[in-house]
Amino acid sequence: MKKHNFNAGPSILPRIAIENTAKAILDLNGTGLSVLEISHRSKDFEAIINEAVALFKELLNIPEGYHVLFLGGGASLQFCMVPYNLLNKKAAYLETGVWAKKALKEAKLFGEVVTVASSADKNFSYIPKGFTIPADVDYFHITTNNTIYGTEIREDLDSPVPLVADMSSDILSRPVDVSKYALIYGGAQKNLGPAGVTFVIVREDILGKVDRPIPTMLDYRTHVKENSLFNTPPVLPIYTVMETLRWIKSLGGVAEIEKMNKEKAQLLYNAIDNSKMFVGTAEKDSRSLMNICFVMKPEYADKEEAFLEFAKKRGMVGIKGHRSVGGFRASTYNALPLESVQALVECMHDFEKENA
Ligand SMILES: *Cc1c(COP(=O)(O)O)cnc(C)c1O
Repeated sequence: MKKHNFNAGPSILPRIAIENTAKAILDLNGTGLSVLEISHRSKDFEAIINEAVALFKELLNIPEGYHVLFLGGGASLQFCMVPYNLLNKKAAYLETGVWAKKALKEAKLFGEVVTVASSADKNFSYIPKGFTIPADVDYFHITTNNTIYGTEIREDLDSPVPLVADMSSDILSRPVDVSKYALIYGGAQKNLGPAGVTFVIVREDILGKVDRPIPTMLDYRTHVKENSLFNTPPVLPIYTVMETLRWIKSLGGVAEIEKMNKEKAQLLYNAIDNSKMFVGTAEKDSRSLMNICFVMKPEYADKEEAFLEFAKKRGMVGIKGHRSVGGFRASTYNALPLESVQALVECMHDFEKENA
């Protein structure tokens, strides 16, 4: 049976990226060697990482003065590296969920932290609006897509101070005006590649401004200087990222991807909004195009398990909601085809016909 992969992360990747990775594991470009058994300083690997960086820059239209890095440690290590490198006295954070809170917690180890606004009062079901970004902070940190709650900041904010964004779960899902950000980071395993590699897009002129010494591996300047090859980087995940970027380019780039993402999300949100049985959990103007969260209406609360079983029989994978929200979550990342969303919508209709 065909599986429809709605996993939140690690999650669905383009089939072609997986197939080409499998080929490169067996024989990289006819070299007779696996990508797993060559030096990260070889010409062959250098070509891979350089292509990945070049495609990232091309697809996101990254201006001069920025570097693209591929590091280890996940987005969670960036929660610490960002303040280590950028927080001299004070930073500001927008608290929009668990990941934002974790980032905030690390920053407090390095200086004063202002929570500019929070949506904790309603279980992070909306993106705060009308807040003022203080002008006297070293940077302002946001989480553009809140993977657990299904909310997303889909515009590039104007910030009077350097803007830092965790884009783990919506990178390359839409065009981004990178010039409005000082630093963008994320784990690859939601929308870009396998677990094990973290991307960082950093504007060079924000580095080197803190008073504290920074350990070599945690200093962005080390990785900028060495083109992410200071030590052995996660070579295989970088290979797959490069293949995913090729795939995005082959579809026409991020503007095309965004159209497809909008179509998929609209289809599912419409089904939720027109349902007798299901209801969305995120406020409408904060809804994410990447993670679509919904629950049973109170009168059908006892049908939750039955729906999960029903959906499983139809090939739906990964639609159980995160424990802090409950209900269901369908992650509709770039690589998820429209037909999977169509299949889920049909599944919801059929369940409703039988049970409502
Ligand atoms: C998954 C996720 C993280 C954590 O990423 P790791 O690579 O596991 O550290 C951080 N932020 C967001 C928005 C995420 O979705």
